Amino acid sequence: MGRVSFKGGLSLNTIRVTLWNEFRHEQRDEAVRDVYPNGIHAAIAKPLSDAGMQVRTATLDEPEHGLTEAVLNQTDVLVWWGHVAHHEVQDDVVDRVVRRVHAGMGLVVLHSGHFSKVFRRLMGTSCDLRWREEDEKERLFVIDPTHPIAEGLPPYFELPKEETYGEHFDIPVPDEIVFLSWFSGGDVFRSGVTFRRGLGKIFYFRPGHETYPTYHDSNIQRVIVNACRWAAPSRGPVPAYGHAPSPEGAQ
Ligand code: ZN
Repeated sequence: MGRVSFKGGLSLNTIRVTLWNEFRHEQRDEAVRDVYPNGIHAAIAKPLSDAGMQVRTATLDEPEHGLTEAVLNQTDVLVWWGHVAHHEVQDDVVDRVVRRVHAGMGLVVLHSGHFSKVFRRLMGTSCDLRWREEDEKERLFVIDPTHPIAEGLPPYFELPKEETYGEHFDIPVPDEIVFLSWFSGGDVFRSGVTFRRGLGKIFYFRPGHETYPTYHDSNIQRVIVNACRWAAPSRGPVPAYGHAPSPEGAQ
C-alpha cells in the first residue's frame, strides 16, 4: 500500500484504487449520460476519494485500456465495470490483471462485470445468470452482519428500480456470501460474494445497471468503499516457493 507521510512523523496507509470503466454506454446513450454525465467511474470515484482513498480512473479506449504494468503495480484495489465490450479487452491486459490479483491486488467486480474476461478467468466457470430489465424493486439483505463489507449498513436496503438478476449464478461456491437480493418479480440472487485467488481478495457486487442511478445511492456507495478497504492487500508475509532450507536450520 502507498504511504502518506505527515510532518509529525506519523504515517497513514492510503489505499490506491483504480476504477476501470468500459465507458461506452455513457458516450452512446443519452439516457445513461443523463444519469452519469461524467461516466459511471466518476460517480464511484467521489465516495472513494471522500473516504480518503487515492483514486485514479482508467477506461477501455485508453492505450492498454489504461491498465499498464506501471498503473497496476501502483494499484491496491481495481474496481471493474464493463458490459457491451467485454470482448474488446485485450487478452494480454487480462493476463496482467490476473497476475496482479494472484500477487495480492484486490478486485471489486460490479454488476455486468460478471461476464468480464477477468472475472470469468479468475472464477473458472461461465459466470452466467438469468436477467431481465423490467424496473423491478431490489431488496438487498445483509446476510453476514459480521462482515467488514457490511459495516454501517442497515439489515436490508432497497433500490426502487434495478435490472433483475436471478439464480442460478454460475460461480464457484463463494468463500462468503455477504448480500442476498430479492426482486419484486420473485427472483433471488447472491448479490455480494467474496473469493480469494492466490494472495488476492475478490468481491463481486451485483447492483449497477447503467440506466438507473444506483451508484448515487448512499448504501451502494458505502458497500463499494467498504469493499475496497476489505480487498486491499494485507500486510502478511510474502510467501517463497520452490526449494527451501529447513525452517529448523534457519533458526
Ligand atoms: Zn445491466
